Amino acid sequence: MQMDNKLSYILLRGGTLLIHDEHDHVIPKKSDLLIQNDRISRIDDDIQPPPGTQIIDCADSLVSPGFIDTHRHLWQSQQKGLHCDQILLDYYHSGTVKPHDVFCGVLASCMEAIDSGTTTVVDHAHVNYSSQHNEEAIRGQIASGIRSVYCYCVHPRVSTWQPELKLDHDICLDTEMNNFRKLAHEQPFGPNGRARLGFAIDTMFVQPKVLKDAFNEAREHGVHLITSHITRVSMMDNMPSAVAILNDNGLLGPDVLLSHGNNITREELQWIETAGVHLSSTPLSEVQMGHGYPICLEPDFLPLSSIGTDSNSICTSSIPAQASTALQTTRARQMAENMKNGTWDGTIGPKAEDAFNLGTILGARAISLGDEIGSLTVGKKADIVIFQGQTPTMTPASDVDPIAAIILHSSVRDVRTVIVDGVIRKENGYLCKIDIPADITENARNSSSGQKLFEWKDVAKLLRDSRLRLEAVKTTICDEDSARNGLIRSFLEAMMHANRTT
Ligand SMILES: [Zn+2]
Repeated sequence: MQMDNKLSYILLRGGTLLIHDEHDHVIPKKSDLLIQNDRISRIDDDIQPPPGTQIIDCADSLVSPGFIDTHRHLWQSQQKGLHCDQILLDYYHSGTVKPHDVFCGVLASCMEAIDSGTTTVVDHAHVNYSSQHNEEAIRGQIASGIRSVYCYCVHPRVSTWQPELKLDHDICLDTEMNNFRKLAHEQPFGPNGRARLGFAIDTMFVQPKVLKDAFNEAREHGVHLITSHITRVSMMDNMPSAVAILNDNGLLGPDVLLSHGNNITREELQWIETAGVHLSSTPLSEVQMGHGYPICLEPDFLPLSSIGTDSNSICTSSIPAQASTALQTTRARQMAENMKNGTWDGTIGPKAEDAFNLGTILGARAISLGDEIGSLTVGKKADIVIFQGQTPTMTPASDVDPIAAIILHSSVRDVRTVIVDGVIRKENGYLCKIDIPADITENARNSSSGQKLFEWKDVAKLLRDSRLRLEAVKTTICDEDSARNGLIRSFLEAMMHANRTT
C-alpha cells in the first residue's frame, strides 16, 4: 500500500511481461517488475525486494500495460439495459440527472472499467447543468482510483421536455464556461493529479465564433485535451463535416482527439495527419448505433487511432472485447471488399498485436500521455493489469501467444489484479474497497489513507436507488416518441442555425 512521504514497493514476481520494443512490437518476457510508489522502477530477473515489499506471485500470469479507454461518457451507468435494440436517436434522450446521480453513475462506470483492466479513461462529460454536477463527476472518478481526463463539454441544453423535447440553439458561452473556469482554477484533481481537466465541444451544432472562442479559452486554461464527436450518420441528412469546420477555423492541433471518424474522407484524413490530431473508435457502439464500420485498424488510420467504449449503457467496458470487435469487423470488411473486386493480397488484414496496441501504447499517445503510460517501461506510471494465464479460457493460448490470449480469448473474469498509479484497485479477481474523498482537490483523501469505506456492493446499491429515482422522474417528463421527434427537429434546427450565422 502506498503511504505519504514514504517509499512503498510492490514486486510482480516471475510473470510474463508484455513489453513494447521501439517499433511497438510486443515482446513477451519472463521477468520480475518492481513498483516504487506510483512508478515502475525496475524490470529484471530475480529482483531482491526491499524490506516491506508486497510480493505478487505472477508465475502463471500475463502482466500487461493497463488499458486506455479514449472515449467514454462515464455518467450513464443507470441507463444500462435500455439501449439493446436502440440506435443513436433513441439513446440520446433517455436521461435527466442530479449531481448525486452523476456521482453514482460515474463511480460505478469507473469501477466497471477497472474491473475489466482499464486504468485510464477519457470522459466526454456532457452533463454540466451545474458546478455540483461537474464536481460530483470528478469526485466519482477520484473515488474509483482510475486515471482520467475529465473533458468538460459545452453542449446544447434541453429547454423544454413538453409537449416535445426541445434543445436550446444559442449557446451563451460566457455562462456555459463559468463552471469550466472554476474547474480550471482548481485543477489538477485527486492524489498525484490523477484526474486531469480536458474540454469537449460537439462542433456541428455550434456557430464558428462560439467554437473559436471556446477552443481559445480552453487552451488558455491549459486543458490537457480537447475532444469532439465527428459523427456523420445517414439517419440525419446533411450533417456538416465537423472535421471541415474545425479545419476551416484553424482549430485542429495535437491536443485534439476526435471520436467516431467512421465516415471520414481522404481529404479530412490529410488535414488530421498534418495537424497531429488523433482519433478514437468505439467499435461496439459504432456498429450498433448506425455509425458504420470502425476505422481504427484500417492501415491509413491505425497510427493516429485509439479505442474506447463510448458508454457502459450500450456495451461492455472491456477494451480487449472492443479491440477484438474492431479486429474481426475490419478483417470481414477487407475480405468482403476482396471478394467484390476479385482480389486478395494473401493476408488476413490487421493483426491482433495492432488491436492490442490500440488499447495500450497508441491510446497513450492519442491523449498526449505517451511518456507516462501505455507500456511497461521503467520510469512510467505503474498502471498495470495482470491476467490469470491458466483459466479454462486462457490456457494454453497464454503460453503460446499472450496477445492472442488477451485479445481473442480473455474475459473480465481473467483480469486478476489491476494497479493504477501504484495502488492495487482489483486484487485476485475482486474490486478493492474504496475511500470516497470529501472534495476534488489534489490533496483529497484516497484509499491510500487506510480508511477504506465502500465495497462494490455498496456502490451497486447507490446505483440501483439512483436508477429507480431517474426512472420515476422520466415517466413524468417525457414520452418516448415525442422526445425522439423533438430531438431530430432540434438537431436539424441547431445545424441550420449554426450555418446561418457562419
Ligand atoms: Zn460518444
